[in-house]
Amino acid sequence: MNWAKIELHLHLDGSIHLPWAYQTALKRGVVDPEMSFEEYYDLMYKVDYPTREERMKRFDFPCAVMQEREDLADSIYYLAEYLNDLGVLYAEVRFAPQQHLLAGLTQKEVIEAVVEGMKRAEKDFPEVTLRLINCLMHKGPDADFNMKENMETVEATKETLGKYVVALDLAGYENTGDFMKYAPLFEKAREYGIPYTIHAGEMGLGVHVIEAMEMGAAAIMANTALATAGDLPLMASAFRQAIEAGRKAYLSGLGRVLTRGASASDPLTGFLRD
Ligand SMILES: [Zn+2]
Repeated sequence: MNWAKIELHLHLDGSIHLPWAYQTALKRGVVDPEMSFEEYYDLMYKVDYPTREERMKRFDFPCAVMQEREDLADSIYYLAEYLNDLGVLYAEVRFAPQQHLLAGLTQKEVIEAVVEGMKRAEKDFPEVTLRLINCLMHKGPDADFNMKENMETVEATKETLGKYVVALDLAGYENTGDFMKYAPLFEKAREYGIPYTIHAGEMGLGVHVIEAMEMGAAAIMANTALATAGDLPLMASAFRQAIEAGRKAYLSGLGRVLTRGASASDPLTGFLRD
């Protein structure tokens, strides 16, 4: 049966067209000129990694061919062609603009380059509707490590939000720092009216699911924690409870806990003052 498909969790740098990437890698001199396509393929598709950080390092290879304006546009154009072949009608494509600054583009210019490719694809593959989500990144030991770059992503998203750019996300390897330290970024996004999803409980702790929802996420993006659970339905139900708990907490109004950190309350002295 030929099913019409939609794709809501697609990473641009994790879905690039490999023959194009190989040719571009040679053209830009980011791999050894003697490297064969098969060797390039093996670099990209190694499956076992000793650490999650090393797994994330794999994304350096696709990112290396997505630095120039023209290459950024081509990367999404070829993805659209592939999705068209698969019969995908709608896809939300994610990428992190801050990973594409090596050729001197600003984050806003990087996003605009990808949108150029989307417009070209729209003409040639009118059956496929693409929308772009800009990812903030987990990098380094905690949120402070790249807070400046992440805040720039929020600003660049505000400036490009529209028909093609529709939301923010937080992706990367879920570092072990305080997850709630990302809250100011999402506070800014809400101020600007930008919807956002958050990767949570994907490569990190299950408690991140609750915290992501507490930070106001419209959805959490997760796969690994669920897919690798011993009892998948039980894990799915745990996720459901975590999502519901976090959402209720968010809707209740978390007050100063969300923005300034919690402090121990002193109900007795508070009562006496009243
Ligand atoms: Zn993802």
